[in-house]
Amino acid sequence: MYAKVDDEVLKFLTNLFDKDEVLVDPDLLEKYSHDEVAGLKAEPEVVVRATTVHQISKLMNFANEKKIPVTPRGAGYGLSGGAVPIYGGIVLSLEKMDRILEIDKKNLMITVEPGVITGKIHEAVEKEGLFYPPDPASLDSCSIGGNIAECAGGPRAIKYGVTREYVCGLEAVLPSGEIIQLGGKLVKNVTGYDLIQLLIGSEGTLAIITRIILRLIPLPRVTIDLLVAFNEFQAAADTASAIIERQILPASIEFMEQDSLIACEKYLKKELPLHDAAAFLLIKLDGNRKEDVQALCESVGEVCFEHHAVDVLVADDRPTQERLWEGRRAVVDALKERSPVNHMEDVVVPRARISDFLREIRKLQEKYGYPIICFGHSGDGNVHVNVLKEDRPEDKWKGTIPKISEEIFDIALALGGQITGEHGVGATRRQYLEKAVGPKTVQFFRGIKQLFDPSNILNPGKIFPPRR
Ligand SMILES: Cc1cc2nc3c(=O)[nH]c(=O)nc-3n(C[C@H](O)[C@H](O)[C@H](O)COP(=O)(O)OP(=O)(O)OC[C@H]3O[C@@H](n4cnc5c(N)ncnc54)[C@H](O)[C@@H]3O)c2cc1C
Repeated sequence: MYAKVDDEVLKFLTNLFDKDEVLVDPDLLEKYSHDEVAGLKAEPEVVVRATTVHQISKLMNFANEKKIPVTPRGAGYGLSGGAVPIYGGIVLSLEKMDRILEIDKKNLMITVEPGVITGKIHEAVEKEGLFYPPDPASLDSCSIGGNIAECAGGPRAIKYGVTREYVCGLEAVLPSGEIIQLGGKLVKNVTGYDLIQLLIGSEGTLAIITRIILRLIPLPRVTIDLLVAFNEFQAAADTASAIIERQILPASIEFMEQDSLIACEKYLKKELPLHDAAAFLLIKLDGNRKEDVQALCESVGEVCFEHHAVDVLVADDRPTQERLWEGRRAVVDALKERSPVNHMEDVVVPRARISDFLREIRKLQEKYGYPIICFGHSGDGNVHVNVLKEDRPEDKWKGTIPKISEEIFDIALALGGQITGEHGVGATRRQYLEKAVGPKTVQFFRGIKQLFDPSNILNPGKIFPPRR
């Protein structure tokens, strides 16, 4: 179906890109054969690391004519196999396009290339007293281009929203090689269909994002974090809903169970605070006046104790706050260390239904006999459900995981939720797309893909279920 990368293709690529940026050595290709999904791998035939939009334009024009699949890749920190080249072909790495081009303090905008690591954007704008709120837990490793392609969220989404709320302008290369410019340093813009919003979350299947303009806001001057311990996971989940019902909107409300904290302690090789509790909420409050944030802190504390919190740690200085967040940031890696073979789902439910969701997941754990550990952004109703294989037999694991995933999705959908809140459909959830959104919507999705990429060369094997 697709053409292979032969000598003629390699000649074209070495003429277009710097010699060091065309990789064919199998040892170097390995890094580009996977993202952070355990057990999903496919080798590219060649990797190119672009440095300009014009290289990308010429590459796409050539690949489109030759029918060679191209898989865009940011930092490879995705959790749905989006950057894995399922059909081989060319991996187009954006890692070398990593410049912050401008911080415009008059318009409160930043212009960046797609390969900039998200945490670097935070650092750069915070030095200027400005704030880019989206904060995926992977922010020290993932790229802003990947964040846009996945519409990344993060703990602060409850108050500040996800990546799509901050993108005002994009430059992108279409699968044909044409370059388009969308939006600009504009806070408002309703000129025609909103293609920026269509490209956000399109998982590298419609266009390659090559330049980004992001909206910034003033940096909140005061933050207070609370680590709240509960003797029972249900009480923690109910508290998260109760805080929101009380019309308090913290910057984050994160949820963790004791099993994840213990895994984090082993991984970090240190004791973490309040580790005897069964479940925790990690709550961040922010604002501009100390007394306002302290008043919020008292209200949140009251709700927590009304819902049977057993202990609360309060942190209002950076080092103590970092200590409270250390476990939460390490949890994905810590669970991977506990069980190198594991399976993570990323469902989202209306936030008031979180405790119903967690209760049903407990039943699944008993039914299938695998440890199932939940953590996530309970303030947004977004729960990461981790099934651990540990030393259970391989064949049973392979046969059981699809059933567990399907049941997790059924529970979320029955509660009015969806199958992924921020990690994307990618390669790992595509067979469930139709169940999630229905056949008519999938048909529309296919129509959009066809319009952008009639030859289906850009990141094939993602989002869409295989045709029956
Ligand atoms: C420990 C850990 C914690 C995480 N925490 C969070 C979290 O809190 N919130 C969250 O939302 N996610 C989280 N993630 C998932 C992941 O980090 C995000 O999905 C992130 O946006 C991926 O960025 P990346 O640069 O690594 O993208 P990659 O993995 O390289 O690619 C992801 C997708 O984007 C496409 N893509 C990449 N760059 C471009 C481009 N320039 N143009 C077009 N398409 C492109 C790829 O083709 C692929 O489909 C976490 C992952 C890990 C490992």
